Amino acid sequence: MHSEEPEGNQVTPSTGQNLDPHLKRYAARAEGMTASEVRALFAVANRPEVVSLAGGMPNLAALPLDSIAAEVASLIAKEGLVALQYGSAHGLPALREQICDVMSLEGITGHPDDIVVTAGSQMALDLVTRIFIDPGDVVIAEGPSYVGALGTFASYQAQVVHVEMDAAGLVPEALRQALAVAQAQGRRVKFLYTIPNFQNPGGVTLDVIRRAEILEICRQAGVLVVEDNPYGLLGFEGQTYPALRSMDPDNVIYLGSFSKTFASGLRVGWALAPHAVREKLVLAAEAAVLSPPVLSQMIVSRYLSTHDWQGQIKSFQQMYRERRDTLLAGLDQHMPADCTWTKPDGGFFVWMTVPEGIDTKAMQPRAVTARVAYVPGIGFYADGFGSRQMRLSFCFPTLDRIREGVRRLAVVLEQEMEL
Ligand code: PMP
Repeated sequence: MHSEEPEGNQVTPSTGQNLDPHLKRYAARAEGMTASEVRALFAVANRPEVVSLAGGMPNLAALPLDSIAAEVASLIAKEGLVALQYGSAHGLPALREQICDVMSLEGITGHPDDIVVTAGSQMALDLVTRIFIDPGDVVIAEGPSYVGALGTFASYQAQVVHVEMDAAGLVPEALRQALAVAQAQGRRVKFLYTIPNFQNPGGVTLDVIRRAEILEICRQAGVLVVEDNPYGLLGFEGQTYPALRSMDPDNVIYLGSFSKTFASGLRVGWALAPHAVREKLVLAAEAAVLSPPVLSQMIVSRYLSTHDWQGQIKSFQQMYRERRDTLLAGLDQHMPADCTWTKPDGGFFVWMTVPEGIDTKAMQPRAVTARVAYVPGIGFYADGFGSRQMRLSFCFPTLDRIREGVRRLAVVLEQEMEL
């Protein structure tokens, strides 16, 4: 389990591998399944006295719960026999049409037939990996990358090769080199996995000129692009960027989600794929879940048709912008010299690099004792990098808690530098 979100979940105490009587029975792919850094933190980060800058839970406080409740009640009363029944693995046609409207905000002209609705984009990631990856195949991903995707790739025994980012996102030259090295080694690269907007955990956005360059590099190398874009509509100035999918529809699988723009607990996301790939994804979805949850899909569909969802997204943008501003101001004011961090213009995350000699994973228990939590950088790499980095999330805590969390973190870092 590598779920990013359920900060409230209880962590099952580890019994230790040696005590597991089933150890010899597991498939080889289960070996790659280990608890993520994020998950290990849930138990401590959840204590009320700890300010958690760790979890990536969206802040749903701004949702109009009463009117959503009324819509759900009317949905069950009027269409309950459909809403509570099995559906198709492809997803509800009406919702797929609405998803096309959502994607048009980022320049995508998709056909509803080419969309597969999934239980969150996490499931879309799983399906894509399931249909493309044989053990040992290479997935190229930004370094650092989304912990939940790394978990999925590991569970299908993919080899992840990281490519560096800078303030303008994935570096095209580094991608070119990684592809050349993999090719020289005779390894099969199946796809580039990228989060171009407000990257998790990096907080950076891929430059528009680089987008074209990266698409060209992948096309030339015969490598698909998987564009994971759950934060794309959460630009703090209302800005959007042209989706990779809009620039090269035949070579990009686009993953979208309502988790950050509406309600993560409904578990509704989607994949938009080239036609032939879509067919395979539907078959894989049938095998995995028969159909994505129909009630959830109908709730999302109702919400989109009855609520000012674009206005709601604007209020999310404002709320997260305020939190980002508060975190960045606190970092400017309190962090010791030699710490550097990214300055996201959307999304949930800031990526911080601490002075040499500090190991963010080793420091973590001391931070928790000082009542602040972050995610150590090492969890966002498949290859052990990231020991001087940490992810700081500003999405969930109140402004006061963010301020207090940064103050506490600065004290811990200063003490660490004296050790
Ligand atoms: N991709 C990225 C980059 C994410 O940050 C997340 C959630 N944290 C997901 C995919 C999964 O989102 P969901 O399954 O809720 O749509």
